[in-house]
Amino acid sequence: MQIIDGKQVAAQVLEEVAQDIAELKTKGILPGLAVVLVGNDPASQVYVGSKVKKCAELGMNSKKIVLPEETTQDELLEVIRQLNEDSSIHGILVQSPPPPHIDEAEVVLAINPAKDVDGFHPENVAKLVLEDETGFVPCTPLGCMRLLESAGVQTAGKRAVVIGRSMIVGKPMAHLLMSKKANATVTIAHSRTVNLPDLCKEADILVAAIGRPNFVTKDFVKEGAVVIDVGINRVDDATAPRGYKIVGDVAYDEVAPLCSAITPVPGGVGPMTIALLMANTVKACRQQNHC
Ligand code: NAD
Repeated sequence: MQIIDGKQVAAQVLEEVAQDIAELKTKGILPGLAVVLVGNDPASQVYVGSKVKKCAELGMNSKKIVLPEETTQDELLEVIRQLNEDSSIHGILVQSPPPPHIDEAEVVLAINPAKDVDGFHPENVAKLVLEDETGFVPCTPLGCMRLLESAGVQTAGKRAVVIGRSMIVGKPMAHLLMSKKANATVTIAHSRTVNLPDLCKEADILVAAIGRPNFVTKDFVKEGAVVIDVGINRVDDATAPRGYKIVGDVAYDEVAPLCSAITPVPGGVGPMTIALLMANTVKACRQQNHC
């Protein structure tokens, strides 16, 4: 059984990004990412902080814009309009979830698709479906594909089951797996799927993106399957220093012995997301500078 080391693969991606940045710098071009946070949700603050920190480590330009909780929709749209115009910024993301009074769909629509490094704009969703590689694909499924590739997993002709149909993970993951690059035969399962364990048991590649701790037990997994666990769930743990620990959607201890390869949580998919965000920003920078 192979434990797929997301930290190591993320480090490789970041090394490639660093090389790209160095090359762009020789042309006088510096990639830039703007991260917009509305409100003071503690988890969002951590995510935004780590994105900006990663930009700094890579020598990339970044702009962290923190707006008060009471920011109106129009004020936020105006910030995005300015970032769309800012030629030093190639990627824009608005940290999710915004406060409830913000219409997130309208915000996503306001971002210039060429700068939409999260891949949420309908134009980029369409490009994913059309397999147009000029588009931007959400970072987490992109990271999952890179993990499969680096683990040497052959996807062509394989049965893949993706549990979860969100726009950020499940749906783009299914599209990437069924693309003419990966050529898997894909089933998407969700909260209304019947006989989920039996369906999952047919999978050569099983992707869990549900958001329920330890949901996927050994009854879901065929011997020799590859399991990608996207879940990040906080569960109480009195023995942990902070009183909780992070677990995935897969009951790792009982599932891992069945697998040919599996991603751990933490240290699997998690580190890939930020690495691919950096890669998407450099891609956006290259496209905007036609180089
Ligand atoms: P979501 O809540 O938007 O979607 C969850 C999906 O799971 C839904 O499509 C739903 O139909 C499905 N589901 C829920 N209950 C189910 C059940 N009983 N049986 C079958 N399907 C069921 O969540 P999301 O944003 O896609 O995130 C999924 C998980 O991935 C979460 O734990 C999240 O924290 C994690 N996540 C991790 C990263 C990362 O960087 N590693 C990034 C994004 C999300």
